[in-house]
Amino acid sequence: MLHRTEGIVLHSSPYGEADLIVTSLTRDFGLIRLFAKSPRKVGSRFGSSLEPLTHARIAFFGKEQSRLPRLTQADILRPFQSLRERISLFLQISEAVELTLRVLPERTGGGKAFGLLLSTLRQLEEGGPGETYLLYYKIHLLRLSGFAPKLGRCGRCGRRAERFFLREGTVLCRRCEPEGLDHSPIEPRTERIYSYFLRARPSGIPRLKVPPEIIRGLAELINAHINYTVVERLNSRSFPQLVEKEAGKEAL
Ligand SMILES: [Zn+2]
Repeated sequence: MLHRTEGIVLHSSPYGEADLIVTSLTRDFGLIRLFAKSPRKVGSRFGSSLEPLTHARIAFFGKEQSRLPRLTQADILRPFQSLRERISLFLQISEAVELTLRVLPERTGGGKAFGLLLSTLRQLEEGGPGETYLLYYKIHLLRLSGFAPKLGRCGRCGRRAERFFLREGTVLCRRCEPEGLDHSPIEPRTERIYSYFLRARPSGIPRLKVPPEIIRGLAELINAHINYTVVERLNSRSFPQLVEKEAGKEAL
């Protein structure tokens, strides 16, 4: 059976002499791994449609439950080439892509995560505050996959709380907090920005006037939460090291 949808390439790895296994975030099927026959031949247009971050209209062939459907067509809608050429930005995007690969289960949902990634890549390409867009992306990806940290109100009883417990993924009030667990204080401004991010549409981000240290503080909290909740608990490999390795592979 032939399926048609739109996809954004997140990852590809060589398979045999000239083939590729491509992981794509699609509008209708969520994350999906596809087999691409011979795209690595020199000058192949099919090959350039499978570069990381490329947004394309794709068709693949396979039964509904086929483990590795075959990609038969990929027509580029937006190449996002300029994002691949800006190394430090590309490294930051690769980190967000790595998070996507870890938290989204294969072949579920799709539409919302796809729309979030596409709008983030568009905004990054048009310029503006890259760090803030990627922070917005990570927060919403965590929300969509059920991993978002809880700030503002105690994760157990709902009272106002300002101390964040990394191991619990939430702030806890003095009555509920466990003894002896490490925690860090959350500034009210940080919590306000976090809840704004959760409510805001991506188009609201460029107008956001926030001191950079607040964005940085929230980014540190979110990265620590990702490292503990997603990396340590779901997978023991270190996040930044893995990103560097992946980026090195892309550059080869
Ligand atoms: Zn409480």
